Amino acid sequence: MLEIENETQPTSGLCETVPTMTEAEVISQIRAHLEKQFPKACPSCGHHFASLRDYLLNTSHLGPAMSYDADLGNWQPAKPVGTATYANCRCGNTLALTSAGMPLEQLWSLMAWGREEAARRRQSPQELLGSLCRKVGQQVLARDPGKPA
Ligand SMILES: [Zn+2]
Repeated sequence: MLEIENETQPTSGLCETVPTMTEAEVISQIRAHLEKQFPKACPSCGHHFASLRDYLLNTSHLGPAMSYDADLGNWQPAKPVGTATYANCRCGNTLALTSAGMPLEQLWSLMAWGREEAARRRQSPQELLGSLCRKVGQQVLARDPGKPA
């Protein structure tokens, strides 16, 4: 009779160099980054956006978000061109929210996640980014502690 070793060897350990994030974690990182860009004012008409929520409610969204680096096939950009999403202010001026200011390591880990996840879902990275942005927007708009109507 062989004695089967009781000690359970942890199968994963050092081999996981890239921690796998969940979509919820990715969304919360993106949301936190976007929320840091507020308050913000429209440089053209001076309209003041107090928060990301205020911005989403008072601009009209323009097309899908773009990761210019991913578009160029550059998934670990040392000098990122950036990722941006555009919206029109009520005055007609185009406003952008971008990945500028995000630490490189964080940007890279989000992009690495996006690349793998898009492949797993058989989506283009653009489609995945678009769906993440929509979910961020839905979360931000759903969370309405104050106003009943
Ligand atoms: Zn404006």
